Amino acid sequence: MTQMITPQPGIMDIALYQGGASHVEGHNNVLKLSSNENPFGPSPAAIKAYEAEARMLHRYPSSDHTELREAIGDVWSVDPARVICGAGSDEIIAFLCQAYAGPGTEVIHTEHGFAMYRISALAAGATPVEVPERERVTDVDAILAACTDKTRLVFLANPNNPTGTMIGQADVARLAEGIPAQALLVLDGAYAEYVEGYDGGAALVEARQNVVMTRTFSKIYGLGGLRVGWGYGPSHVIDVLNRVRGPFNLGNAGIAAATAAMRDVAYVNHCRTENAKWRTWLADNLAELGVPSDVSLANFILARFASQEEAVACDAYLKTQGLIVRLVAGYNLPTCLRITVGDESGCKRIVHAIRQFKES
Ligand SMILES: *Cc1c(COP(=O)(O)O)cnc(C)c1O
Repeated sequence: MTQMITPQPGIMDIALYQGGASHVEGHNNVLKLSSNENPFGPSPAAIKAYEAEARMLHRYPSSDHTELREAIGDVWSVDPARVICGAGSDEIIAFLCQAYAGPGTEVIHTEHGFAMYRISALAAGATPVEVPERERVTDVDAILAACTDKTRLVFLANPNNPTGTMIGQADVARLAEGIPAQALLVLDGAYAEYVEGYDGGAALVEARQNVVMTRTFSKIYGLGGLRVGWGYGPSHVIDVLNRVRGPFNLGNAGIAAATAAMRDVAYVNHCRTENAKWRTWLADNLAELGVPSDVSLANFILARFASQEEAVACDAYLKTQGLIVRLVAGYNLPTCLRITVGDESGCKRIVHAIRQFKES
């Protein structure tokens, strides 16, 4: 045997993604609060649309996603011609890296930024650049200072995962204004729907040529299992992304369910209201137990413990109670647990268990 084939540079630097667990040995009443899923699931209209597709499985799906893009355009007042749909927003992130980054270029993400930015940058052969935050909040000046003539993409989740914090529109606009001419700002709005009255950055996309927004059906729309996301950007960017996109990247069932979910605005509003109510309740009750968290704008809180030992011990105790939360040491937050906001009974169950842990 001569030399075996080897992957492109950067690929072997990618650590395999660790998803949120969903099973605990010996428990039949497991509550999964580790992946920021909607505790109410998707809109009943989305389930109905999904089921109707069962008779059409032999048909290839639409390659231009017109009905879904038009639903998105109607609900979010964006131009459907500049919307691109992907297999989760993960795929839009990957398209951006594939199209604009590569060997010799840099991709910026924040200190506690979403794992996919680094993974997709490395997969494209680019160099990921991590920028410090200030007390778990995005630091626009630090990002601007990290920009070089090699910078191509600047990823910012707002609200951010796993911190839950958010920066204001003036700061985001200043970032878009300040990045180098050859770079794009990517605003990841995976949790935008949880923020009352927030457009996810759509107005900034409209106003500029260097801002792209990504969104997902995996969080408030409750369709993580179907893998549907979307992006909105200037036409020159959407044209580029559509060239790297496979023509049948979404299936019929995903397109149909996402279209119905998008149009069920009342359901989304209900989920946003419930989330805000129980997020406050959860954060307040944990704070009273000596477990503080930053004000979260998303559907999870980042609970801070006194030490890594305490966070790990609490996680282990919660598992014995059938409760799965997320250790975030991989995000450089070893003293924290990220806890998805459940429904009323879920929030009560987790607070009860953490109280017992603290008292033991
Ligand atoms: C959950 C999440 C996404 C969504 O990814 P999908 O591929 O659409 O499921 C994107 N960005 C962030 C920051 C997230 O937390």
